[in-house]
Amino acid sequence: MNESLYVSPLAEITTLGDDKIAMSVVGRRFTVEDKVGMLKTILDQAGKGVQLSALTESMADSFPPEAIEAAVTALVNTRVLVRDDARAGGDATHQHLQHRRELDALIPRDQLAAYDRANWLLVLAGEGACADALAESMAQMNVPLQRVSRDGALPETGDKRALLLVCSDFEDFATFRAMNAKAVERGLASLYLGIDWSTVQCGPMVMPKATACYECYFHRVRSTRKFVAEFDVRSKPENILYHALPSRLAIQFGVAEASRLALQYLSGTLDNLQHSVFSEIDSLTGETHRSRVLRLPRCACCGNASTARPVGTVFQQSLLRRRA
Ligand SMILES: [Zn+2]
Repeated sequence: MNESLYVSPLAEITTLGDDKIAMSVVGRRFTVEDKVGMLKTILDQAGKGVQLSALTESMADSFPPEAIEAAVTALVNTRVLVRDDARAGGDATHQHLQHRRELDALIPRDQLAAYDRANWLLVLAGEGACADALAESMAQMNVPLQRVSRDGALPETGDKRALLLVCSDFEDFATFRAMNAKAVERGLASLYLGIDWSTVQCGPMVMPKATACYECYFHRVRSTRKFVAEFDVRSKPENILYHALPSRLAIQFGVAEASRLALQYLSGTLDNLQHSVFSEIDSLTGETHRSRVLRLPRCACCGNASTARPVGTVFQQSLLRRRA
């Protein structure tokens, strides 16, 4: 325990008179009435980061080193002291995510390094106000980000925990479908964010071959449209002269929703991750509608569709399908 320890950004510490300290870490509260003077000195120094050796040295006149070590160990175990200095200039978001992931406890300890922020890579595809706002938000939270153009090639992700986020100021079906096809082929998880007038459309979060992909979503939506021909015309970018501009408010809702999903996926906080879910947020009323997207078994991207003409009679085809 010779690295620097800091007071956790999730900890609230209150002194109750001279002989009592109350500590709360995300809602877990306990009071200490024992060795309050020593604790106050430790906490005071930990504000700027402190090492155990420096502590025992500076307090050697008043307290034995074992007592100081025991107190520091207790503070680390209760998460009052942590290894990152997220209180000064850092971001409490990552500490909250880590805390949630530990509550989930679904990831084995030896695999946790893969979910570490140093191993993340967020690939942001797209241009426009929404993409710029997302990039800025991610930079503020120190998320490693690489931008590519809206139909650009995907970068090598190696063994990084990577997510492709495709973002557009309008419902850019063509780009979303093209990037989805690339991501599914590469086995890269992806998320889609578009704005339709003042409504945010976010999703689905795609885990290739495991959940519904954007192509599955697109075909489901197309089949529910009453005027399919009109839908087809509107979904081709070459037919549109001007797009409606996204409102600033819609962008802010979109950035919030997409950042949440991206951070949850990257950090491995799987609670309510909502893969295979499509969310629509009306930015003017705040109303959020989530619908489940089912995977299409014969999807052209993630399913077993074939472009070859089927052979045999309808009856023979159904037999072949059943055998496959
Ligand atoms: Zn699919």
